[in-house]
Amino acid sequence: MNAITLPSSRAYQIVDHAYDVVVVGAGGSGLRATLGMVAAGLKTACVTKVFPTRSHTVAAQGGIGASLGNMAEDNWRWHMYDTVKGSDWLGDQDAIEYMCREAVPAIHELEHFGVPFSRTEAGKIYQRPFGGHMSNYGEKPVPRACAAADRTGHAILHTLYQQSLKHNAEFFVEYYALDLLMDESGACRGVMAWNLEDGTMHRFRAHTVVLATGGYGRAYLSCTSAHTCTGDGGGMAMRAGIPTQDMEFVQFHPTGIFPAGCLLTEGCRGEGGYLTNSEGERFMERYAPTAKDLASRDVVSRSMTIEINEGRGCGSKKDHIMMHLEHLGADLLHERLPGISETARVFAGVDVTKEPVPVLPTVHYNMGGIPTNYHGEVIRPTADNPDAIVPGLMAVGEAACVSVHGANRLGTNSLLDLVVFGRAAAHRAADVVKPGTPVPPLPDRAGEASLDRLDRLRHASGGTRVSELRDRLQRTMQSHAAVFRTTDSLNEGVAKIEQLWTGLHDVSISDRSLIWNSDLMEGLEFDNLIANGTVTMVSAAARQESRGAHAQDDFPDRDDANWMKHSVSALGDEGRVELTYRPVHLYTLTDEVEVFPPKKRVY
Ligand SMILES: Cc1cc2nc3c(=O)[nH]c(=O)nc-3n(C[C@H](O)[C@H](O)[C@H](O)COP(=O)(O)OP(=O)(O)OC[C@H]3O[C@@H](n4cnc5c(N)ncnc54)[C@H](O)[C@@H]3O)c2cc1C
Repeated sequence: MNAITLPSSRAYQIVDHAYDVVVVGAGGSGLRATLGMVAAGLKTACVTKVFPTRSHTVAAQGGIGASLGNMAEDNWRWHMYDTVKGSDWLGDQDAIEYMCREAVPAIHELEHFGVPFSRTEAGKIYQRPFGGHMSNYGEKPVPRACAAADRTGHAILHTLYQQSLKHNAEFFVEYYALDLLMDESGACRGVMAWNLEDGTMHRFRAHTVVLATGGYGRAYLSCTSAHTCTGDGGGMAMRAGIPTQDMEFVQFHPTGIFPAGCLLTEGCRGEGGYLTNSEGERFMERYAPTAKDLASRDVVSRSMTIEINEGRGCGSKKDHIMMHLEHLGADLLHERLPGISETARVFAGVDVTKEPVPVLPTVHYNMGGIPTNYHGEVIRPTADNPDAIVPGLMAVGEAACVSVHGANRLGTNSLLDLVVFGRAAAHRAADVVKPGTPVPPLPDRAGEASLDRLDRLRHASGGTRVSELRDRLQRTMQSHAAVFRTTDSLNEGVAKIEQLWTGLHDVSISDRSLIWNSDLMEGLEFDNLIANGTVTMVSAAARQESRGAHAQDDFPDRDDANWMKHSVSALGDEGRVELTYRPVHLYTLTDEVEVFPPKKRVY
């Protein structure tokens, strides 16, 4: 055991560890990476703030995309085209090619690991239609979402956890990762973590750290993600001087239950569900004559918002839309959508076999994140190399921005992203790190800055509770970085966030202990939420066009000449943001497919 004495003269006891690889996060991406690392013989620790099977991946319902072609002819090139189109031409086409090509073997691998997929009569993996999945380059819908009823994430997460245990991965459960440990050259050398159960501090040194910490949906007031989705990986990266990318692109899912926000999967509409306004009209037929209710999520969310804004919302306050499933019949609902039937009963008091469910667009996914290449290596662009990597650091899953989702993610492509790039990161680490090579010592005073941050917050005695600041942040994000955005509203949002940073100086924490101190942990999480929220608002305010999930009313068209580029946002002291841009990869990985040039969107 070592000790670190802080400038405040307070001292913390430190437990030191050395691993080939430390993975932070045990959701689908973290577990797939961990499993791959241990299988390759790398000594791997997986650090997670919640028990692995409580990670948000467990809540994924609808499915995981792959062109298996079990229900109708399909092809990974069509999947790739749909993904590029869905990304509104902001996705990197090399990474998208990799993901769509690897999707088929990745699903078969999951099947062999033991994921209990639903089956067709012939015993093949069942696939359902999802928004934006089309055959023959946009011709007609194709069922591409491989599903385990409506509990696909649950099935995948449990299987990956079991496989990781079988391969003797080492888990540090209920350890909260505080900060990355960087050296003077800008390489990552490890990570600092706090054991929530006994209050000890842990310094992990490793050849490679993998951030798999999930999204930051909780920066918003109404979201479908778990309370743990606080963008800790992005916060850690930005504090270490690593920028985030494309943070202005936040996906709203059309069908959060009104008003609770819990998700009703797109699989509902995939199975034949549809939306109506207060006049009983199936309005999606007007907005998207071909795809209708299965148009991509941004299109459906915006159409719903227009219906409500124009006075055709349902209920006494005309503030929501109705989703119908009752015509599908009790048998199908029981077999294919048992989980959402229960969710609708518990959270809306609705029996889906008899009546429609009230729904409203709700924050669902963060397309932006820590930039990486398709090997999972983190990118920190330099003046002469937009693709320069950060040695020793990887990121996967929703925390990362590969970028396969670009300006908007297609349903089922996130679960796919988790397993494909979790696996790719393990392959890369196995190439770069030789098992058993001694892990070099840490730089002097490694971890001191991180503990100093924790210590200052732990003893903070201002007048504002963290929950108040968080509420203000969430309301600001919800109303200023919303489904529809305007220059004025975004600028107002930026100003409100600046005030919140000032408010941080007056924060108070009432519990000074180190054991199960949720007050302190929420304070640390708030540092990450505000970091992610700030770069989201600032990069949204800067982007003068509408693309994918970023619908800017003052600039309604996509502007490829000026804006087909990734936003790169670095966070400085007191919430100052420095924005730069890096080119989209408009090239493919192999010559098996050609680049898809930008096309105007037709719905
Ligand atoms: C309700 C819902 C339904 C969805 N349905 C689908 C679907 O059908 N298909 C699809 O493709 N996508 C779906 N998505 C999206 C997809 O599920 C998520 O994007 C994905 O599961 C995220 O996985 P992840 O591995 O990146 O992170 P998560 O599963 O969120 O896991 C994050 C992990 O990081 C750990 N962690 C975070 N911070 C720290 C820290 N500071 N210290 C230590 N550990 C930390 C947590 O403990 C956790 O283990 C859905 C999302 C939601 C919210």
